[in-house]
Amino acid sequence: MILIKKILNKLVKYETINNFFQKQRENFVILYYHGVIDDHELDKLNGPNKHLFVSKSNFIKQMKFLKKNNIKVISIDELYIQNFKPQKFSVVISFDDGYKNNINIVYPILKEKNFPFIIYIIPKLLTDEPWVWWIELWRQLQKKNIVMIENEKFNVSTENLKFKFFLKIKKTMKLLQIKNQKEMIKKIFNLKVTTDMSNLFLNIADLKLLAKDKLVTLGSHSQDHLCLKKFDRVIILDQIKNSKIFLEKSLEIAIKHFSYPYGQKEDIAFYEHEILSSLGFCTSVTTMDYSYNKFNPYYLNRCSIGPNVNEIDFQRKLLGVDKALRKFFFI
Ligand SMILES: [Zn+2]
Repeated sequence: MILIKKILNKLVKYETINNFFQKQRENFVILYYHGVIDDHELDKLNGPNKHLFVSKSNFIKQMKFLKKNNIKVISIDELYIQNFKPQKFSVVISFDDGYKNNINIVYPILKEKNFPFIIYIIPKLLTDEPWVWWIELWRQLQKKNIVMIENEKFNVSTENLKFKFFLKIKKTMKLLQIKNQKEMIKKIFNLKVTTDMSNLFLNIADLKLLAKDKLVTLGSHSQDHLCLKKFDRVIILDQIKNSKIFLEKSLEIAIKHFSYPYGQKEDIAFYEHEILSSLGFCTSVTTMDYSYNKFNPYYLNRCSIGPNVNEIDFQRKLLGVDKALRKFFFI
């Protein structure tokens, strides 16, 4: 895959190939990030959560690329108003989960460029003490070589084994409510208290400040970041409805856009559009970069930008090369 990307990166430099892909692609792409962190912080990161972050220098390069090439950056509201058919090729910038760096690092960079963006918020992190299982699990695994679940012993002495264990537990975590996720992690690692993550996530004061700026749109990422597919219709409705009510009341803004937690095909029940539309949402985004389903504003694809995306990868992704390949070869 890396080799294919290298070859493609060479090919897209040719104008005819570049033009070919420009004609094939849709007239917009929604970029999808979680957080942007200082370069030396990213270097220190390892494990499954690394993919959530992009280095500050890379992010700046990507935004410069958009500016330099005169690519239009629009808000998700504008995309909706233009009925997903902007006249000129346009980019929407989106962030999931509401990490603190979205205000400390991302906001000043985008403000300087005058680029609009959307952050999808998890209200649970604003009311209870902010906590997510994926950060806690990886943090605890760093301290262990052996982990016991019931009477089964797991060797987690190497990076690779920790990674495998993380993916195994992830499957169970997706079935649970936050309270039970917490209990399970406490039990596995024999913890009395869990980590305070308030410095990692945006709080109400941050959001109130961001909400004042016309460049910033805030959306819902569900009340508790539950994997919706694994829960029944009543819970899905509650997750979407309660998040909207809470955010609208506490921030005094309209919440019209939604992002599916986890966001892959196996995480979505695919009837959420009925709930979202009845509650007055305009759009909803997945984390899939391509799907065979017919276009639906409640299952919009996004293009993921991770830590290893360099400038030429970024250009290739904007051209829709990866998406086109997936369409033709289903990779
Ligand atoms: Zn998320």
